[in-house]
Amino acid sequence: MEMAAGLAAVARGFYARGWLLGTSGNLSAVVQREPLRLAMSPSGVDKGELRPEQFLSIDENARIVSAHQGKPSDESLLHLRIVKDRGAGAVLHTHSVWNTILSDQYAAEGGVKITGYEMLKGLQGVRTHEHTEFLPIVENSQDMPALAESVGATLNKHPAAHGFLLRRHGLYSWGKTLAEAKRHIEILEFLLETIGRTSRRSD
Ligand SMILES: [Zn+2]
Repeated sequence: MEMAAGLAAVARGFYARGWLLGTSGNLSAVVQREPLRLAMSPSGVDKGELRPEQFLSIDENARIVSAHQGKPSDESLLHLRIVKDRGAGAVLHTHSVWNTILSDQYAAEGGVKITGYEMLKGLQGVRTHEHTEFLPIVENSQDMPALAESVGATLNKHPAAHGFLLRRHGLYSWGKTLAEAKRHIEILEFLLETIGRTSRRSD
């Protein structure tokens, strides 16, 4: 419940910034590792009004194990994949205007390369603005098991990445803790907006 309260507070903050409009996006955090239990945002709920008691508890197969009528987010399988492959303690997913635009503009390059910005130092393990962060782009799909496979392959191919984009869809990032995952989203959204606003691309 404490974890759900933390997730709801993060959701309200991200909603206020315009990153979770129209019930979009989703948030999760590990409550227990063995067996795996994730606090997961429900599907179709306004993220600006999300209450802690609305968070579902799901198992490693995205089945609800709490006494909720709701439906877990369709993207629960992606959260579970990130938790398993990256050892994440929290996974956050935003649909901002800038991450949506750049996820399409840079699709042909396979990702967005970010270097030379002081804000990069907000990413775990990064000590200098000279760091190069490559944010891979995964083609979007409504077939969640297939998309989870694509995400798994991308995470494997880019072990240093702190997040990834789904094309014309949104950003995923994570952290060992909820605070770290929130920081990563804020840093990556800042950097994507900075690149978007200063890019000379007209397409
Ligand atoms: Zn989404």
